[in-house]
Amino acid sequence: TIAYLNGDYLPVTEARISPLDRGFLFGDGIYEVIPCHQGKTIGFSAHMDRMGEGLEALEIASGMSAEDWLEVVNQLLQQNATFIPSGYIGIYLHVSRGTDTRRFHAYPKDLSPTLFAFAFELANPPKCDRDEVKGLRVALAQDRRWQRCNIKSTSLLGNVMHYQHSYQSGLDETILFNAGEEVTEASSCNVFAVINGEVVTPSLDHQLLPGITRKITLQALQTANIPHRERPLTVTELKQADEVWLTSASKEISPVTEIQGQPVGNGKAGPVWYEALTAFNTIKFSA
Ligand code: PLP
Repeated sequence: TIAYLNGDYLPVTEARISPLDRGFLFGDGIYEVIPCHQGKTIGFSAHMDRMGEGLEALEIASGMSAEDWLEVVNQLLQQNATFIPSGYIGIYLHVSRGTDTRRFHAYPKDLSPTLFAFAFELANPPKCDRDEVKGLRVALAQDRRWQRCNIKSTSLLGNVMHYQHSYQSGLDETILFNAGEEVTEASSCNVFAVINGEVVTPSLDHQLLPGITRKITLQALQTANIPHRERPLTVTELKQADEVWLTSASKEISPVTEIQGQPVGNGKAGPVWYEALTAFNTIKFSA
């Protein structure tokens, strides 16, 4: 496939950066994954806003406007269309602080950032069918990550270790909870639960990423007049919920059918999930 590196397009296998890049040495950078279906982006401007907030928090000036990134996204979609015939493409965007000749924790403010982007094949989106959709089986674990999870940082070791925990047991994800037994998010997704006819998702704060799919899902619930609320969600509520869903760029809204070996509700994708995904599919390209 073709990648973008600091203004150039080249085969991804030929892209090279310095080992002194602070992205490599410190995980000092910000990234995004923008889902695209058949050449159309989903949530592009929301992804740009979130990336801008992350870069501001890290005091990195990328020198790229949203229009500049859109050009990169469109070039990568065009140049990779034949390599990824399914048309389900994730565009990964990455800005790291750049190369410093010293290894020193404090960052100089005048480095040229490293700009990198590439295209990869996304899993097929979930089938909007209660009988055909693949239900996810998940583990539960205490959230051991840092206190700035709202920043989409390239330092992902905490997320990697939490994901590995479920993956090596043959499960699909790990749902995380804080010391107060409140659900934060999963290692690469946001969490929703249906409780007494209301869709609940944890409120945004430093403990979770403001997912773009979460945002579009809330818009879809609003559009479809499905009762919903952002509020703390306890582990006990999660285990007793009628439905649990995970949202992310690649999973869209996917039903969870098993938590720690116990069925969620009747162990099948639920009716509210079906309504929510139907509404999501109607608005996703315009959200
Ligand atoms: N939470 C974490 C920790 C993530 O890494 C991701 C995305 O990969 C999400 C939530 C979902 O965010 P989005 O819907 O923007 O993909």
